[in-house]
Amino acid sequence: MIELEEAFEIIGRVEPRSSHETVPLEKALGRALAREVHSPIDSPPFSKSAMDGFAVRSDDDSMSFQIIEVVPAGGTPRHELREGECARIMTGAMLPSGAGRVIRKELAEEMNGNVTVMGPETGDNVIPQGSNLRAGDIVLAPKMLTAQDIGILAASGFASVEVITAPSVGIISTGSEIRSPGEPLGPGEIYNSNAAQLLAQLAPLRCPSRFLGVVVDQPAPLSRLIESALSSCELVLLTGGVSAGDFDFVPRCLLELGAQVLFHGVAVKPGKPTLFARRGERYVFGLPGNPVSSFVIFEIFVKPFLHRWMGLDWKPHVFRARLGAEVHRRGTDRTEFLPVSARDGRVAPVAYHGSAHLNALGDAYGLIRMEKGADTLEEGAEVDVRPL
Ligand code: AMP
Ligand code: MG
Repeated sequence: MIELEEAFEIIGRVEPRSSHETVPLEKALGRALAREVHSPIDSPPFSKSAMDGFAVRSDDDSMSFQIIEVVPAGGTPRHELREGECARIMTGAMLPSGAGRVIRKELAEEMNGNVTVMGPETGDNVIPQGSNLRAGDIVLAPKMLTAQDIGILAASGFASVEVITAPSVGIISTGSEIRSPGEPLGPGEIYNSNAAQLLAQLAPLRCPSRFLGVVVDQPAPLSRLIESALSSCELVLLTGGVSAGDFDFVPRCLLELGAQVLFHGVAVKPGKPTLFARRGERYVFGLPGNPVSSFVIFEIFVKPFLHRWMGLDWKPHVFRARLGAEVHRRGTDRTEFLPVSARDGRVAPVAYHGSAHLNALGDAYGLIRMEKGADTLEEGAEVDVRPL
């Protein structure tokens, strides 16, 4: 069994891939931006009004102005403003030349082509050209693209973007007791929740993922399915059959197929039997069969692996919050990740009674970490919360 940090180091040594592709913006959400993107234009591209109102010269303190034109958004002002003149201007419209501030409509009274200022205007209500970004500035650096990033790229005029090709992932569920949802259950059988859950966990990372099937706990069919998975997928995620039970054939099958086991057994709870292996450029995670363990280990190991593979320097977001209840445990030989709910500004472990209690996870907002050696986290203590 290795320490958690050692497992992270091993994952951190995975060689990133460099295959890129260009995708239209509407397909870019969740994809990994391949390189720095620079703005081809100033943003905004022209100085504009932030309000509906009247544009005047900034050095003009008159209380009454003659309206010389109307500038709608998208329109081009024709006249340069002189003292005593204003242009009626709409939000987002280009400022006429000579204009430096906008008097809000609400502060002005209009009569017979003239405007009288009724109250003091506090700001200039102008968004200067290039005040968000200058042409050539970095718009975004490599990262997983969020909805906001898509907006940011569109604002700079990009219709498509270069992203890193995500690894193809194959999922195999091992266990003679595992049935697919929708089928009737026989005695001793349970539904396969891991495959659907893993597919859902992979979806936001935009990896092309496939469920390759359930395989019984027998070496021959297991080896056949792993071999075919390795030939078609860059990452294979197996669940179950990875511990030391009589029917846990995953480690042995992988060795027989010529894979190199990079780690098997980590001082982490849940997920102690987790296995990580490679064969050539292809990787395999053997995740524990217990659904909570499979879920947590995906978060803890598979997510960083996928980011690493795509060359992204990624750290999970964490924030500090206070614990709403004391946490106590007996064994202290492993780092533990506890699913927590968030309520009234505090977090508390969800009431789950072991790694098979998947339903409790439904209330989990994030994970907190209890370090090896620690047996208690006091109520009210500050903890790092990693949102899910
Ligand atoms: P294993 O890691 O194979 O020893 O499995 C540990 C526990 O997880 C057993 O109770 C299994 O029945 C259960 N389990 C294994 N695979 C799945 C799965 N795909 N979906 C739900 N539970 C599973
Ligand atoms: Mg099993």
